Amino acid sequence: MNATSSSRDYPAGGCAAYRTEDARWAAVMQRDPNADGQFVFAVVTTGIFCLPSCRARHPQRQNVRFFADAAAAQAAGFRPCKRCNPGGVDRQQRHARVIAGACERLSHSEQPIPVATLAAQCALSPSHFQRLFKQYTGLTPHGWYRAQRANRLRLALQQGETVTGAIYQAGFGSASNYYQQADAALGMTARQYQRQGEALIIEYAFGRATLATVLVATTGRGVCAIFPGADEAKLYQQLAAQFPRGTLVAAAPDSALITGLDEILAFMDNRRPAFPLPLDIQGTAFQCQVWQALQAIPPGKTASYQQIAAKIGHPRAVRAVAGACAANRLALVIPCHRVVRTTGALSGYRWGQALKRQLLDREARDCGRTGSAVSEKSAAGGSASKGITADSGCPGEKHHG
Ligand SMILES: [Zn+2]
Repeated sequence: MNATSSSRDYPAGGCAAYRTEDARWAAVMQRDPNADGQFVFAVVTTGIFCLPSCRARHPQRQNVRFFADAAAAQAAGFRPCKRCNPGGVDRQQRHARVIAGACERLSHSEQPIPVATLAAQCALSPSHFQRLFKQYTGLTPHGWYRAQRANRLRLALQQGETVTGAIYQAGFGSASNYYQQADAALGMTARQYQRQGEALIIEYAFGRATLATVLVATTGRGVCAIFPGADEAKLYQQLAAQFPRGTLVAAAPDSALITGLDEILAFMDNRRPAFPLPLDIQGTAFQCQVWQALQAIPPGKTASYQQIAAKIGHPRAVRAVAGACAANRLALVIPCHRVVRTTGALSGYRWGQALKRQLLDREARDCGRTGSAVSEKSAAGGSASKGITADSGCPGEKHHG
């Protein structure tokens, strides 16, 4: 990405990549989806304004006027197009996509990325970007980056790296006071962490998604459990059984969990593509492989246990694959509901067959097609949610085949 870090280039609501009329017209001609949310175009002969990606027939260039956003076009007397709904709900989805992309870049970066650079990559003003980032993640970009880096450090330490090696590998190496920074990230020295591990405090909260009540729980590293169900008391018992040595505490009102809860529920309801908070995925190496394969099944599709087993290179480990699906603690984020029998029959679901059926029906409806087997091509396309990476915290345990 070619971005400048100067904020004066980006007036509020302005956009670096689509600033000239020529650039905007080119985006319209290409129906460039990345231009959506950056400007709208209005057609003087019809009195209607559209998103750049609108599928409707293109107007004559001389009849087109550009506006910064829907409000400006409306103020000039234009009406929103019914087809592309330029002022409507898509805005939220576009923002979610943009912020998910920024999180992705941050989590793969070896050093912090300045807010101005991130904002420019998203073609947003720094202040707008910062506000959206906070809204969608509950964290500042820098806070998000630090959380990811701390995850990498914990992971490297868990995997038996030397302290120096782990600190360097996690991306602290470029900081001048990297030992202190690493200790601050862990809340103890790296050596202590390696010796005793963390006392596990688990914060939890309940929310109401369309299809179920949802219990969401976090460790200091990220979201560790998402359990849908009907009964709060039962969900709490499941959580306690899952983390017998953990201390369960109701999340504080100002915690990232509570402030991010609405966005989590929006994800559960299919209203936003990416999960908003960091994840703390704990599993064996084999389970992580299976979960990764599950995340590659796009919404609206299903795969069989056999297909997943073949995909991860253990074609005979069908039962172990089923076991890994049943051990999933992150409902929907790791979409184990998309695994069905070879016959297409539903098979079990940790949170009940009825819910599984409802989830699959909804996805089939939203994707406008019925479930079909996962293919190489669709698997490569991946799902919109963040994949399981080493950063997410899967320790490299051996599985017992
Ligand atoms: Zn339109």
